[in-house]
Amino acid sequence: MKQKRIFCGCGSRARITKTNRLSQNCADLYCQCTNAECGHQFVAFSHYHSPLSPSAKTTDELASALIKSLTPERRKDLHNQLSLF
Ligand SMILES: [Zn+2]
Repeated sequence: MKQKRIFCGCGSRARITKTNRLSQNCADLYCQCTNAECGHQFVAFSHYHSPLSPSAKTTDELASALIKSLTPERRKDLHNQLSLF
């Protein structure tokens, strides 16, 4: 599998410490900044072999993966926002 290059917000390369496959095409990449002074750890969402026009199924997968990555508080906020429509 070809790994994407991930960069930290500080501009340094980030190292992928763990890959959490969500589906065939989607994965959470657990990253750590290689800059020792930064040391930022974060999770990047990666979608492999992106089609030019994603199918509805892919969009659903993306949306649910994004929601899963939210904290319970943010999920509650989102739920409240959605129920306004
Ligand atoms: Zn950094």
